[in-house]
Amino acid sequence: MFRVAAAGLAASRFAFSQNAPAPLTVTKLSSSVSVVMGNGGNIAVVPGDDSVLIVDAGLPDRANDLLATISDKVSAKPITTLFNTHWHFDHTGANVLLGGKGTRIISHENTRARLSAKITMEALNRTFEPMAAPGLPVVTFSDGGSIYQGAEVLNYTHVAAAHTDTDAYVLFPKSNILHTGDLFFNGFYPVIDYSTNGWVGGMAAAADKMLTVVDNSTKIIPGHGPIADKAALKAYRDMLTTVTERLTKLSKQKMPVEKVVASAPTKDLDAKWGGGMFKPDAWVAIAYTSILRHA
Ligand SMILES: [Zn+2]
Repeated sequence: MFRVAAAGLAASRFAFSQNAPAPLTVTKLSSSVSVVMGNGGNIAVVPGDDSVLIVDAGLPDRANDLLATISDKVSAKPITTLFNTHWHFDHTGANVLLGGKGTRIISHENTRARLSAKITMEALNRTFEPMAAPGLPVVTFSDGGSIYQGAEVLNYTHVAAAHTDTDAYVLFPKSNILHTGDLFFNGFYPVIDYSTNGWVGGMAAAADKMLTVVDNSTKIIPGHGPIADKAALKAYRDMLTTVTERLTKLSKQKMPVEKVVASAPTKDLDAKWGGGMFKPDAWVAIAYTSILRHA
């Protein structure tokens, strides 16, 4: 368990630093979709004639900064709709602020349920209190649906337990853009929240499913990391599939987690994927634990 706790510290240093918050950047991906980066999870912004829709809401301590950035750099119209891709704090940070202003918050039904409960997220060694009522989603879905906003359509789809059991991805067919939520960490080993039923094999399956809705010109907004393309998503899927196969084999031999970590089962993958939020040892412990929990 020490390694898992250490992973939490590494993660906080990488992405959730409280000391010197990075400035938020805004990039226009199409005539109707922009992305805000530098605030926890990546955020899509879709302005309409008299309203703004956003997909995900960053970190709690950057909520005011996020709203000011969107107002200055994309549209000063009110944010009327917020779509949460999943329950995590670095994607729901402005929920309470926006919900309090009357923004309609939409999510999978499990996202609302998870946000309503106290949860200890073991992979990051952090405990989260229930979200204050104004921040809870008021429209929920079980499989998927569509939202029409300005010139754009958002088609959202829930997947079986993957990063968590609350995940949905969002496709913008008019702009050929995919927002993956945390089903995709572009270029490094992902958080796997096994405390809310996430598991590495589910993440591989979700990446596989998303590959069927993109083509070679799709712009992919990952939950974390730079804008990606289909080739990058495919490489990520291949990595997750390989790791799932290797670790599943070891789990069937009932190998304890310490021995699995010591055997360095990802050593040929670590140079490419191990330089982000998690060092290889910490991530193998998380991925393997996720398989033990899933079984
Ligand atoms: Zn997440």
